[in-house]
Amino acid sequence: MESEMTPEETEQKEQMVLSMCTCNSCPSWVECDEAGGYCFPAIGKSAHITEEKGCNCGGCPVYAQMDLRHGYYRTEGPEKEQAGM
Ligand code: SF4
Repeated sequence: MESEMTPEETEQKEQMVLSMCTCNSCPSWVECDEAGGYCFPAIGKSAHITEEKGCNCGGCPVYAQMDLRHGYYRTEGPEKEQAGM
């Protein structure tokens, strides 16, 4: 089982995700006050992106780094939610 992260670890990982995130190059991206990183559970779905125009997650460094398998995180929610976990 995955061990729980401390708040500091979560914050560090969130910063790492946001620094590598390519969400804003995605065709579905909407300019708003969000910074992306929707695949990270502490960030989660977008409150602004409702229309899917395609997904670039597969080419994002975060995708490889976090060993992700799904996509469309901004509308479908984080990996675990999509996997029914
Ligand atoms: S994998 Fe997708 S949702 Fe996660 S940071 Fe990259 S582009 Fe954004």
